[in-house]
Amino acid sequence: FSPKPRFRRILLKLSGEALLGNQDFGIDPDILYRVAGEALAVQRSGVQVAIVIGGGNLFRGAGLAEKGMDRVRGDQMGMLATVMNSLAMQDAIEKLEGNCRVLTALGIDQVGERYSAHQARRYLEQGDIVICAAGSGNPFFTTDTAASLRGVELQCDLLLKATKVDGIYDADPKKNPAAKRFDRLSFETAIQRQLGVMDLTAMVMCRDNKLTLGVFDMFAPGALAAIVCGENIGTLVEV
Ligand code: UDP
Repeated sequence: FSPKPRFRRILLKLSGEALLGNQDFGIDPDILYRVAGEALAVQRSGVQVAIVIGGGNLFRGAGLAEKGMDRVRGDQMGMLATVMNSLAMQDAIEKLEGNCRVLTALGIDQVGERYSAHQARRYLEQGDIVICAAGSGNPFFTTDTAASLRGVELQCDLLLKATKVDGIYDADPKKNPAAKRFDRLSFETAIQRQLGVMDLTAMVMCRDNKLTLGVFDMFAPGALAAIVCGENIGTLVEV
């Protein structure tokens, strides 16, 4: 007997850094396959799965902009980095015999189909994992914000942000051993106390569109499957 999933459609946000593993740069194949396997297991349990991946393991626009590069150009490079990570994830999912589409917010026809919310929903309904690449397609945004936008557009009932920490705490658990983890939290409290692990734009987007946000430790094996079945893991941020 395996527990029944509580959510119909989720959006999983992975940071590029999560793919680093123990490396300083690039993609650790072990991590890639592990995450691909967990996403696929959840999809096979009956949940529709969309994914947004960051690009911080390869490139961040703001870095070169601080040294004089045009920010728009830097951010375009950052968005291309998210496309590279998305292709790596697609490959891993397909190697594990899953069906996966990469839809890109920037037009790169040979690499991935151009993103459209309606097409993405169709693919999700037919059981494909959909990776939304190139962030929002616009500079000055982050992939966290892109994830909240896609989560709302694709009518997901949960946005899951995978982090290195197992939820949201009232203080930094690395600096303060007495820090307490919230099981549940309102967006208002998270925003006011600046507790969010996502930037403000992303948090406000979720709040205004009533998209529940879950924060969990992606290195805890099985956590993803447990959360979609409603287990009390990590922190849920709600309206
Ligand atoms: N980026 C962008 N617009 C978006 C999403 C991302 O310009 O909608 C660029 C930006 O330069 C960012 C880079 O892509 O620094 C990588 O994304 P992010 O830093 O959010 O990745 P993560 O921290 O999740 O690895």
